[in-house]
Amino acid sequence: MEFILPEEIKEVPVEEDKYYDLIIIGAGPAGMTAGVYAGRKKLDTLVISKNVGGQTLLAPCVETYMGYQYITGAELIRKFEEQVRQFPIAFSIGEEVTKLSVKDKFFAVLAYNGKKFKCKAVIIASGRRARSLNMPREKELTARGVSYCATCDAPLFGGMDVAVIGSGNPAITAVNDLTKYARKIYNIVWVSVKADPILVEKVKKSGKVEFFSNYAVNEIRGADKVESIVIRDIKGDKEVVLNVEGVFIEIGSIANVEFAKDVVKLNELKEIEVDCGCKTSVAGIFAAGDVTNAPEKTNYRGSRRRRRSKSSSKCISLFNRILKKEKI
Ligand SMILES: Cc1cc2nc3c(=O)[nH]c(=O)nc-3n(C[C@H](O)[C@H](O)[C@H](O)COP(=O)(O)OP(=O)(O)OC[C@H]3O[C@@H](n4cnc5c(N)ncnc54)[C@H](O)[C@@H]3O)c2cc1C
Repeated sequence: MEFILPEEIKEVPVEEDKYYDLIIIGAGPAGMTAGVYAGRKKLDTLVISKNVGGQTLLAPCVETYMGYQYITGAELIRKFEEQVRQFPIAFSIGEEVTKLSVKDKFFAVLAYNGKKFKCKAVIIASGRRARSLNMPREKELTARGVSYCATCDAPLFGGMDVAVIGSGNPAITAVNDLTKYARKIYNIVWVSVKADPILVEKVKKSGKVEFFSNYAVNEIRGADKVESIVIRDIKGDKEVVLNVEGVFIEIGSIANVEFAKDVVKLNELKEIEVDCGCKTSVAGIFAAGDVTNAPEKTNYRGSRRRRRSKSSSKCISLFNRILKKEKI
């Protein structure tokens, strides 16, 4: 069988004064998948994103992506990018979208640097980011002991004592990453550990982990860097000070919806509500990937893999609709 691949494409300029058929916000797996379909359908497309890769860049290894028994997140993204860059699509990378608005028959996308782009349809694929504890000193001590990414930062804590806050698979995966470097890991868990038993057994075997179930973090202490945390049992009658140099916050994630929150309907978790065709509450605005209310995401601590493949297949139906000019 012969594959028909597009000819080699030169960089497509980004233009402010034209009407794009489509603007894709976000270049994670969902945005790039959408880009491939848009390219194949020859839609005049602009992708605007803070980076290329999104959360998958943080995945040390992906073992469930069909066709690859094992691949690092970074390598998988490199392949995605190679595939999408074959098409004549404009990319504006390193750009944050701050506002999406609806004008009569088109949409306006405003970027942080003041640039404004116009289009006939939008796909929001802006994904998610780590949830913070929202407590005093957390912000100031971020990157000074407070971290939201064990994959990125675990090696910096060699021989040190650290705490991981959270109970789901991401939290226990962080504990597992840290067992390779840290001297001791405290896992602070609101009620009980919810991660897969196989993962919990693995970290227990390391002999480095102490679990504090039914505890919550009350305080993060430290002047220039993290020195300790104060935890309190949920009944409120026992307080423990743990001397740690690192605090890994793994309590889930939130959807990146700020720029669109006044335009499209969100659910109670502040995710964009879509139907099975990726349509949002506004005709012409679609959403795909982790930013949406895809049903799997009610279980979002555990089932990221299903979410991503679901997004890809949703994009197919989405583009069928765009092509039929159902909304444009
Ligand atoms: C540590 C870790 C490990 C993981 N491991 C796996 C795994 O093994 N297997 C698996 O299948 N999944 C894994 N996942 C989940 C997977 O990475 C996500 O499900 C997937 O990345 C979601 O893709 P997305 O495109 O919807 O969103 P994201 O990946 O979040 O991408 C969103 C994109 O939008 C951009 N963006 C956000 N806001 C704006 C804005 N305002 N303006 C412009 N651009 C914006 C971001 O910069 C990013 O490029 C892992 C995730 C993490 C964090």
